[in-house]
Amino acid sequence: MLGLAGIPLGFRFVFLDPAADACAAVAGTLVQAGFDDEEAARRLAQTVDFATFDFENVPEATARAVKGFCPFLPDAAALGASQDRLAEKDLLSRLGAAVPAYHAVSGRTGLLEGLDRLGYPAVLKTRRFGYDGKGQALLRDAEDLERAWQQLGDSALILETFVPFEAECSLLGVRGRDGATKFWPLTRNLHVNGILALSLPGVFGGSLQATAEAIMSELMNHLDYTGVLTMEFFLRDGELLFNEFAPRVHNSGHWTIDGSGCSQFENHLRAIAGLPLGETDMSAPSLMFNWIGELPPLASAMEIPGLHWHDYGKQARPGRKIGHATLTADSMGGLRERSERLATIAGGEFPALLDTLFSGV
Ligand code: AMP
Repeated sequence: MLGLAGIPLGFRFVFLDPAADACAAVAGTLVQAGFDDEEAARRLAQTVDFATFDFENVPEATARAVKGFCPFLPDAAALGASQDRLAEKDLLSRLGAAVPAYHAVSGRTGLLEGLDRLGYPAVLKTRRFGYDGKGQALLRDAEDLERAWQQLGDSALILETFVPFEAECSLLGVRGRDGATKFWPLTRNLHVNGILALSLPGVFGGSLQATAEAIMSELMNHLDYTGVLTMEFFLRDGELLFNEFAPRVHNSGHWTIDGSGCSQFENHLRAIAGLPLGETDMSAPSLMFNWIGELPPLASAMEIPGLHWHDYGKQARPGRKIGHATLTADSMGGLRERSERLATIAGGEFPALLDTLFSGV
């Protein structure tokens, strides 16, 4: 999607990806290599003007190897800061964000100490290499302890209090090389089994938006950040609790391709290339559906006005994100009506999820 956004700007792309059938190949040249293959990354870096990434588990060492040959943005330090859930929460607490209570776990005794402190229910997470709900276990009571320890006990861990949130949301922002910033409207997100299913921007009030922007500005300035940054929050008792940040474009910002003046992908490229940033307003009420494991029938979906279809050309596998669709409309009412039609076509949990998503809107 970065490639598709950059081609009309005159950019050309070389992608590094471990998969031979990586879908990015449609938008440029593919170098098939592991993310830890520093030599391949160095060779690639010698052929380009800028390098960036859209996957935060790229090792910091690879980022540093690239940096010797061309600008690597956002900086490797931002990547490093986001890769350890403990360091990330320590940093955001220091910067003044409200964060759910957490406890660094080393060894089984550490887990018992953490549970003593935080109580049940709690969420045990690996500090590194977790995404889409991978590497975490919910501890409802003492009976869940053994299973969670068997599953995760070999890794460095963090225990967090379970937040019975009213909603989850994310803020996407972009910072240019000159320090200019812009932010998209907060987006409400619904997950199923830890994987994003629906994103609806523009439903939160101005004061939550201002709070979220203030926290993100602190983080961007601290990291001297360049590019698009994402922060995820829980909304609990009218307050935003920081969950995690991603130093990259984000699934909850895919609606910006069709529903904003300038997409997250184009703005990311503008930022790293030192170009003026584009508009981050919501140009039309928008809602994004994620297609996980299978695509709904395209022809039926196309009957719905305001449909923007994105098939990634990936092989379908259970739990894999293989595409998304954004619906746009003139009004929230119109958006809901179109969304209900698409939810019926997509089936599964979508109709029920949609009721939850629009509740209180
Ligand atoms: P994460 O990988 O930390 O974003 O977690 C994936 C999803 O798990 C989140 O989007 C939440 O839906 C849920 N989750 C993670 N941490 C917590 C928590 N401390 N309390 C409640 N739900 C959580």
